[in-house]
Amino acid sequence: MTSAATAEEHPAADRSQSPAPTAYSYRVKAIRLFAPHEPLRAVDVPAPVPADDEIVVRVRAAGICHSDAHYRAGFNQLRLPLTLGHEVAGVVARKGGRVDGLTEGDRVALHYLRFCGSCRRCVEHGEQFCETGGMLGNNIDGGYAEEVVVPAASAVRIPASVPFEHAAVMMCSTATAYHALRLTAPVANKTIAILGFGGLGISALMLARALGAAQVLAVDIVDEKLAFARSMGATPVRSDENLTQALLDATGGRGADVALDLAGRADVSARAVRALVPGGTLVLVALSTAPLPVNPYRDLLARERRIIGCSDHTRAELEELMELAETKAIDMSAAISETVPFDADAINGVLDKLDRGTTTLRSVIAFE
Ligand SMILES: [Zn+2]
Ligand SMILES: [Zn+2]
Repeated sequence: MTSAATAEEHPAADRSQSPAPTAYSYRVKAIRLFAPHEPLRAVDVPAPVPADDEIVVRVRAAGICHSDAHYRAGFNQLRLPLTLGHEVAGVVARKGGRVDGLTEGDRVALHYLRFCGSCRRCVEHGEQFCETGGMLGNNIDGGYAEEVVVPAASAVRIPASVPFEHAAVMMCSTATAYHALRLTAPVANKTIAILGFGGLGISALMLARALGAAQVLAVDIVDEKLAFARSMGATPVRSDENLTQALLDATGGRGADVALDLAGRADVSARAVRALVPGGTLVLVALSTAPLPVNPYRDLLARERRIIGCSDHTRAELEELMELAETKAIDMSAAISETVPFDADAINGVLDKLDRGTTTLRSVIAFE
């Protein structure tokens, strides 16, 4: 047997004779947070090198999330400097030696949670509770960069018909809305009340309809949002002190099976609980630390209602979302308001708007 034949039959063995590089000679542009309260800055960083089980993705789209504005404003204790960006889609540029099933050029979106898949929490409770987990753009350098390195297990294939920008924004709020609905599955034939009709609410509405909800109620105080909700097929319900009765009236006296708290307003959530059917569920999705003013006997026990939390989402759910997008059951064009270039000033400008609360839809960085 010649040595050439050996190499052909055992490509892995052959590759091991030329070890993977530990560094490349070129650098890539990243837009990073160096200090809280300061604008993000563009810098050149070493091109990432994939470990055996990792891929390097050339970023094509990255969503700008309200969380990123919170990070820049110093609400979270982050180890800095950090490249933000946890809503990321792109193409596989390089891969480690033990990565199977992905090839250079594949279009992928990235699950922002890094998880081990083998610890007790991963196995018994779900990957979003991993004991050694991390999050892209939070404690791992994220996708405001020309290239990002992630475990191959983070990659979710993007169907050919789904644009990078849509896939990117689906990695965060849409996925969380989907997880919240999955926690109350099956959704088919149920009445779903969405408390707060912003970007997350639009995703929740599209998904609830795609999953066969009988009726979707959109609760808000802003006329434009209520009108928009109606145009998308929801029943608009104005939020005030009579919300419980308004929800009952909007459902012919029956009440809602599920209420999704996407606004974090404790008073609104408490009123919605009282409009749930017996056995109905309030899902807490928005981050809030305000006490929830419910009466345990009257509001919960006597009707067997429940209140549950919702944290992040799973990789499997992201794959299901991609299928829903491919079949046009959901269309993210309605949730994206603008694309901006990969430029520090442009990104800081969007974060400023998020700080001021003047934008509800999503902005996405589109890379050249
Ligand atoms: Zn996000
Ligand atoms: Zn784990």
